[in-house]
Amino acid sequence: MLNLKDPSLLKTQNFIDGKWTDGAAGSIDVTNPANGEIVTTTANGDATDAKRAVEAAAKAFKQWSKVPAKERAILLREWFNLLMANSDDLGAILTAEQGKPLIESIGEVRSGAGFIEYYAEESKRVLGATIPTISNDRRLQTYKQPVGVVGCITPWNFPNAMIARKAAPALASGCTIVIKPATETPLSALAMCELANRAGIPNGVINVVVGDNSRNIGLVLTQHPKIGKFTFTGSTPIGKTLMKQCADGVKKVSLELGGNSPFIVFDDADIDLAVADCMATKYRNCGQTCVCTNRIYVQSGVINEFMNKFEAAITELKVGNGSSDGVTIGPLINKAAVNEMNDFMEDATSKGANVILGGKKHKLGQCFYEPTLITGVTDEMRISQEEIFGPIAAVQIFESEDEVIERANDTNYGLAAYFATRDIGRVMRVAERLEYGIVSSNSGVFATEVAPFGGWKEYGLGSEGGKEGIAEFFETKFHSMGGIES
Ligand code: NAP
Repeated sequence: MLNLKDPSLLKTQNFIDGKWTDGAAGSIDVTNPANGEIVTTTANGDATDAKRAVEAAAKAFKQWSKVPAKERAILLREWFNLLMANSDDLGAILTAEQGKPLIESIGEVRSGAGFIEYYAEESKRVLGATIPTISNDRRLQTYKQPVGVVGCITPWNFPNAMIARKAAPALASGCTIVIKPATETPLSALAMCELANRAGIPNGVINVVVGDNSRNIGLVLTQHPKIGKFTFTGSTPIGKTLMKQCADGVKKVSLELGGNSPFIVFDDADIDLAVADCMATKYRNCGQTCVCTNRIYVQSGVINEFMNKFEAAITELKVGNGSSDGVTIGPLINKAAVNEMNDFMEDATSKGANVILGGKKHKLGQCFYEPTLITGVTDEMRISQEEIFGPIAAVQIFESEDEVIERANDTNYGLAAYFATRDIGRVMRVAERLEYGIVSSNSGVFATEVAPFGGWKEYGLGSEGGKEGIAEFFETKFHSMGGIES
């Protein structure tokens, strides 16, 4: 049972053109992964709802794109204020539908709000250019103009922040948006809309269609002629499918897809710091983030010290319902994810991995899995090749810097890489040689709204955060003015 200070934040219908509306496909339950209880029942949207939302967004775009940046910024700032003021309730809603510990949920809400604050400010600093002329009777300028209606699909692992990171630059740039959140986690998206509405953001500027008809809704958001841009966060296979769907209309596309992050611990590292960073990057959100550590490489000289300290830290984790005090690791999102952990373990142990801790479904049942530590891992195991997306830490040994860089780069997923060393020369060398969009040395925390977040290779296209994040929502227009007397 959700106990909110403001129960009216628990919305259950689609939000289209500023109105709460039923779904074309009936209704659908939202379940708490920690206990299997039904949190609430929401509308189940379908393609007709998505089409109505795109039409509403296209109508709203005509006005919103003309609102001066400074006025848009004031409305976004008010949205930010409301999200921050209601972060406890938004966190409780997020934990109920997604499972992560409440403290992480509130942190997610606040970090997502940070993107709205940042892009409210940044919207006033999007500049075109005056280009030196090529003849005295001409003047050359560029304008930055919003791309139009944005179609947006987001995953369940960050039900609030993944929306904030896309909606903030979209709205700040003068675009309007239609969002389809994951089936499991519609409530955070709807509560965000309620607060956008209260902030005075006009009808049709932000729209949400919820439910499990993702394929049908996705076809509308990638192919409707009035969609100007499509932005997606989720798995790599679905991202590729959606990118193909966008190809016919030559839509602008941004993709934030799956990861397979290495965490490298060199002999000269501060091992206590490395262990703390590895814990943060491995077990946050029960291992369900695209930047979670996937492959842990430890140099042979420090393997024993690292393993002793890492094992001790893992045993300190408190598994439980994310809404309970002191819980540091919640459930996986669903039972399929638990089965996936068992499959990874079966493959790894059959190929020689040793289980140091955990390795099976947690006694709490439901969707819980034991925090797990395995050694003897090799690059050939599925656990090294694929995104784990769960609480299994897989440790391998390496001997030299060249060897580990080659092994760390041997993946198609180039989002984030971590390494620990106290040698400043190595910090520079390794950062330059890792083929990733984000490298983090001696720190397990890097995400911020002020810097670009994006990856290389099959990880995706484009960036979120920083100046790069808002550039994604503009077209550049070149204006050549003739007939000017010199
Ligand atoms: P997913 O299965 O790809 O789902 C993501 C979203 O796509 C959900 O809203 C889903 O809707 C929707 N979807 C699924 N099939 C679709 C289709 N055929 N057409 C249109 N939409 C469709 O991924 P997930 O399991 O939710 O999320 C985990 C993945 O996201 C991981 O790979 C993770 O690395 C990645 N991720 C990346 C980032 C990042 O910043 N790069 C951040 C978070 C997560 P339904 O829920 O209705 O199926």
